Amino acid sequence: MGEPQRTSLLDAPEHVLSTLQKDGSRRWLRPRLSHGHFLTARRIAAYLLIVIFTAIPYTSINGKPTILLDVVHRQFTLFGKTFLPTDTVLLALGMVGFIITIFLFTAVLGRVWCGWACPQTVYMEFVFRPIERLCHGTAGRGGAANRPVPKWRMALKHVLYFLISIYLAHTFLAYFVGVENLRHWILGSPFEHPVAFVVMTVTTLLMLFDFGYFREQMCILACPYGRFQSVMLDRQSLIISYDPQRGEPRGKFEKHVASGARRFGDCVDCHQCVTTCPTGIDIRQGLQLECIGCAQCIDACDAVMVKLGRSPGLIRYSSQDAIDGKPRRRFRPRLVFYPTLLVIIAALLAVVVSHRQPADITLMRNPGLPFVLNPDGRVANNLRVKITNRQSSPASFSVSIIDDPQAQLTMSSNPVMVKPGESLTVGLVITLPREVFVAEKHPLKLRVTDGDAVNRQLDYQMMGPSNGANHE
Ligand code: SF4
Ligand code: SF4
Repeated sequence: MGEPQRTSLLDAPEHVLSTLQKDGSRRWLRPRLSHGHFLTARRIAAYLLIVIFTAIPYTSINGKPTILLDVVHRQFTLFGKTFLPTDTVLLALGMVGFIITIFLFTAVLGRVWCGWACPQTVYMEFVFRPIERLCHGTAGRGGAANRPVPKWRMALKHVLYFLISIYLAHTFLAYFVGVENLRHWILGSPFEHPVAFVVMTVTTLLMLFDFGYFREQMCILACPYGRFQSVMLDRQSLIISYDPQRGEPRGKFEKHVASGARRFGDCVDCHQCVTTCPTGIDIRQGLQLECIGCAQCIDACDAVMVKLGRSPGLIRYSSQDAIDGKPRRRFRPRLVFYPTLLVIIAALLAVVVSHRQPADITLMRNPGLPFVLNPDGRVANNLRVKITNRQSSPASFSVSIIDDPQAQLTMSSNPVMVKPGESLTVGLVITLPREVFVAEKHPLKLRVTDGDAVNRQLDYQMMGPSNGANHE
């Protein structure tokens, strides 16, 4: 008996990562295209999404961009509504709601988003890979292309990649800076907008790196959504699955053998489902983190089954329980828990939105002395008022004191013009005769109005000397 073969502790297992060779080098994936119903449907969905993604920055609702994530000015405009930093509660609720919706969506539909709608998949599979196939020809999986690629084809591929990366970078940034700014940047000289030029160049290079080099590793290694899928899915979630009951034991196709006399299951081990997989996995090994649910393996396997006169669906949309022959469960705790949370969040959002004012107005005392005694004997308080205009048009806000003829208000400018979505802080001084102060405080009411939608009354405690009334 020979000695058992010893392996070094540093020897990597055969399959560490689908994009990694055993020696640690990159395994380049060139998935074979498999035509079928799902590819046709995904293609239509992908090109529609590309049109929508490109068009959204050019559209507006109520005179505002449909989506503008203006990080620089800290304003988010979503479907014609602008949210400011003061909308923290609203944004936090929206974010929590969004995350729970992702959890619910994934629990029901698995990774449909990844395979059908994620920009990474859409652009990779329906823009960059077709260009690659055009320039390289249709190769199998892994290693170099099957035949040498002429230099001019390689050059053409890189030029096309670069041009599409420029388009992608501009479209992506349009969501953050708006199309008007973008047009201004494009038409102006880079020396006029050096920062914008650098941002655009870096974004273009990142796009080129992602789609030209990093590719499917974005889904396998970098995307947190893929990493979290194991906690988001349950045994009833929709997944793409190979049916081992039907497929195993796998073996070569046996010609002229009656179905009852076959030694093997339906899987003929043709590897079509593997060579078509954009993340390089073998779905027959069960649900894997790398599976983005693109359904390419379904199309590949269905074509094989039809060719062999067997019914399609050896690989299909299913669930872990269904594949194991277990009944469908009507009650799934997460399908009760997530919607309940969403209803609560929707109710809270409705309350917050209904209490949203067309302007935020805050009155603040200036730091330092609570009051000052003026030479004319009047007591002065120094304040500032912060006005945030949430309306879609500029508004002129005037500040006044209500029903106290002894009080005098001084401001550097009154009324105050505030642009839509902007905040302005202005200083103001209120004075009262010293005799008014029987105690240290004297209540006042201020009004801030734009003469239209905004009419706010603010309470203020004027500070003064405690014995002002007895002072000689
Ligand atoms: S394509 Fe179908 S038959 Fe071929 S290896 Fe994959 S599962 Fe088996
Ligand atoms: S296993 Fe099938 S569904 Fe999953 S990524 Fe590969 S081809 Fe797409």
